[in-house]
Amino acid sequence: MRHFRCTACGKCCAGWLPLTISDALLHAGRFPLAVVWTPVRQAAKDFAATERLGFTFRTPDKKTVAVRICPTAYIPPTMTCPALTADNLCAIHGAKPLRCKAMPFFPYRDEGHQADLLIPRAGWDCDVSPLAPSVYDGKTIVDRADFDAERAELLAQAPLIRSYAQRLLETVPAMGGSLAKALLKPGGGHVAVSFASLLRHLPNEDRSRIAARQIGALTEASHRLGTESGWAEYRRNYQDWAWEMERLT
Ligand code: SF4
Ligand code: SF4
Repeated sequence: MRHFRCTACGKCCAGWLPLTISDALLHAGRFPLAVVWTPVRQAAKDFAATERLGFTFRTPDKKTVAVRICPTAYIPPTMTCPALTADNLCAIHGAKPLRCKAMPFFPYRDEGHQADLLIPRAGWDCDVSPLAPSVYDGKTIVDRADFDAERAELLAQAPLIRSYAQRLLETVPAMGGSLAKALLKPGGGHVAVSFASLLRHLPNEDRSRIAARQIGALTEASHRLGTESGWAEYRRNYQDWAWEMERLT
């Protein structure tokens, strides 16, 4: 039996936050969004779940990889979430993303492979003592409503994600090579592309309204970076992606 309780220290509310498409659209005025593509090798334990929820791809050197494709609040790892308040609480608690509700479990991993996610990272104040609630028994999540809700949403959006991925690979031939390169990075690599590439692919959304909200979030995120020199890539991406969004308004 494994135990876990969030003490609301706020320390995991920083850096990239993977979102469902619905959560990304709901919070387009708050989070600077990207679509992050993460290739997963066939031998990895996340492969089967990633294949179900994402996209399967043959690299130019004929390797089969599953690709996790997540709309993501694209925030540098040392920078806090824009929804985190000064007293370390979530300003959007009632509407916080499914990803935050299901923490520390991760739906892109099979249920039996969640145990190591219950080990707090260095500096995190999660309570994993026997006094905390029992959350994982053997290989089963005990209180599973949030995990199941996130996974159900990801399964429902999977056909759309697949058609988007197919389309982007056809129209941007360099994506295949970028994914193959990302796969070679030690510890796993990623390719981040504009959220506009996905927004264009969503059939029933008010693109102009969402793009306008996203320009505000990207501009605000750029201001939060300040003059810090280490985040040049984020600054450049925010600017490029705001230009792409302008073309949708
Ligand atoms: S939305 Fe709320 S819970 Fe989620 S990362 Fe941001 S501050 Fe934390
Ligand atoms: S690091 Fe742990 S205790 Fe702190 S907010 Fe995140 S889940 Fe809660």
